[in-house]
Amino acid sequence: MNTTEALKLRLEYELLEVQQEILILLETHSEPEYLALKNLLLCSKIADWPEKIGEHVPEKIRRKKLRIEQTQAALIQLELGFYGFCADCDAPIEIHLLESDPATQRCANCQNRTAK
Ligand SMILES: [Zn+2]
Repeated sequence: MNTTEALKLRLEYELLEVQQEILILLETHSEPEYLALKNLLLCSKIADWPEKIGEHVPEKIRRKKLRIEQTQAALIQLELGFYGFCADCDAPIEIHLLESDPATQRCANCQNRTAK
C-alpha cells in the first residue's frame, strides 16, 4: 500500500468514526429535536450530513460536523487527483503534515502564516 492509499484509508475510517461520535452525542441529548435529527441522519447520505446538522447544534457537534466537511473535502480531492496540494499557494503539502492530519489543507509555510 502506498502513502496516499494509507491516508485515504485513514480518512475513510475517521469519517465513519466521526459519524458514530455525532450519533452518540445526539443520543446524550434528551430533547426531541436531537432525536429527530439523529433519525434524519441515519437515513441520509454522509455527504448530506453537514447540511442536515446545520448551525443550531451544540459546539461539540458543530466541531464534528466541521471534521466531516474536512475529511470529505480531502477524499474528494483524492478522487480528483488534487490531493496533497496547499489550498493557498498550490505547493505540495509536506508529508509529515499529511501524516499527522490527512485532511490538512495547507503547507507548513501557509500554516505558519495563518497561525500568526
Ligand atoms: Zn501553502
